[in-house]
Amino acid sequence: MEQYCEVCGRVFDEKRCPKCGRKSVRSVTPDDLCFLTEQEVLWSDMLADVLKQEGIPFTQKKVLGAGLAIKTGPMRERVRFFVFYRQLPEASAIVEELFSQAEEADGDL
Ligand SMILES: [Zn+2]
Repeated sequence: MEQYCEVCGRVFDEKRCPKCGRKSVRSVTPDDLCFLTEQEVLWSDMLADVLKQEGIPFTQKKVLGAGLAIKTGPMRERVRFFVFYRQLPEASAIVEELFSQAEEADGDL
């Protein structure tokens, strides 16, 4: 059974969270919100559209490094996506498909 960290929304096999090191983790349930991916704003809009089309509910959390937004502007802002555990495999497949193509396109430049 996979474990779940309520702080990070991570799902993992170890006894403690690989992200924050928290030990008081519990078994994941289908209704847990799980960390899916972190993307720049530009890509997050695209991903949000696809998830909506596929009927996968999700929540977004904006990530701002202190002082980073002032220096580099809002385009450097990143967005974290969380989906329900029962839809995590489906959503992961979408992310993989979307962003493996994006990486290939970058390589052509
Ligand atoms: Zn954690």
